[in-house]
Amino acid sequence: MTVNARSTDLASLWMPFTPNRRFKAQPRMIERATGCHYVLEDGRRLFDSISGLWCSPLGHGHRRIVEAVQRQLVEVDYSPAFQMGYRPAFDLAARIAAFAGRPDDKVFFTNSGSEAVDTALKIAVGYHRARGDAARTRLIGRERGYHGVGIGGISVGGIVPNRRAFSSMMIPGVDHLPHTYNRAETAFTRGQPAWGAHLADDLERLIALHDASTIAAVIVEPVAGSTGVLPPPIGYLERLRDICTRHGILLIFDEVITGFGRLGVPFAADAFAVCPDMLTFAKAVTNAVIPLGGVIVSPQIHDAFMSGPDHLIELAHGYTYSGHPMAMAAGHAALDALTTDGLIARAATLAPLLADAMHSLQGTPGVVDIRSIGLMAAIDLDPIPGKPGLRGTQVFEAALDQGLYIRLTGDTLAVAPPFVAEESDIQQIAPQIMAAIAAAG
Ligand code: PLP
Repeated sequence: MTVNARSTDLASLWMPFTPNRRFKAQPRMIERATGCHYVLEDGRRLFDSISGLWCSPLGHGHRRIVEAVQRQLVEVDYSPAFQMGYRPAFDLAARIAAFAGRPDDKVFFTNSGSEAVDTALKIAVGYHRARGDAARTRLIGRERGYHGVGIGGISVGGIVPNRRAFSSMMIPGVDHLPHTYNRAETAFTRGQPAWGAHLADDLERLIALHDASTIAAVIVEPVAGSTGVLPPPIGYLERLRDICTRHGILLIFDEVITGFGRLGVPFAADAFAVCPDMLTFAKAVTNAVIPLGGVIVSPQIHDAFMSGPDHLIELAHGYTYSGHPMAMAAGHAALDALTTDGLIARAATLAPLLADAMHSLQGTPGVVDIRSIGLMAAIDLDPIPGKPGLRGTQVFEAALDQGLYIRLTGDTLAVAPPFVAEESDIQQIAPQIMAAIAAAG
């Protein structure tokens, strides 16, 4: 890999979730993004096997979105989010609710997944308070969960390095369910593992410990994404739903990765036929062209806030950029493309090809597990003893030389290709990963 001679130029930017020193010693700079590929400044052409950061399922430079955003820029560049309305925001909210199969639900717009999560947690606590149940403030997350980087999100999240440095800032009264991963029981499973539904019963233990009357909500990713694609055990989400319902606890699905077609259906809630009280979304809602996130909220929750004098604000929460016109334009265009171009069905068609390709790596030296569901999959590599994350980094870097951009977390590699990828692109991923593992040694 070439070392960029201008690396001192890079000093000012503090990069997010990146080993800054290693990156700046060997920068990899994206110069162009077209379709399913990135082209780097050094000329390497990479297949974008993770749709940016799980967020660009329609590929890059999608004509419909480009044109919509260009038009929007000259029509209304910004419209105040508070006390004034912009009709495309109302329309997109209605379209998203209908797309989720929940036409009576309400949609609250944010700018990111992290904000969507913190918004959902605030709505949960506010809902119980509005109903006179103000003692219900406790939130339950899950080990290995990723819910962004807001204070609420890291509190309910369960990725240790994201929490360690900030323990004094966590919101009080949060507890965690166990994660659902057990390599001995589930290694190399395609789709949902048969083992593990009983782990949902741990919620009963937390309820016995804290008492249901103190618990506002449970939040989980229906498929844990960032930690390395952990599909839910068969029956697990149903059990969580049942326990929450019996105890008056709200169930929130964080669908920032799974929303908008990743599992071959609109939301993971559809894939697993489990109906949460709220769903968070972001990323693919605009194909990541303009930042947008949001929360889909059941009418019962929304209506609990709609009391008191009607000149007063019902929910003291929102962002300067909630429902930003540029994001609305990108959102409408992305939803048009997803629905009218049949791309969710295409994701469903490509899913078994991806699973076949990834599971063909079973038996490759150093590969200790492979998981897949919908159009997403992950591979666990055997860590180098005493150096967690180093093998993953080396394989990630070697993959770039093979023409493949993948997602790295620790020693886990994840893929979630664009829905517009060619079958040949998908079939190429496994040999590229195999070559990268061999090259990394
Ligand atoms: N929730 C989940 C499930 C995510 O995967 C992510 C990001 O990957 C987030 C929340 C945070 O989203 P953002 O990075 O847009 O704040």
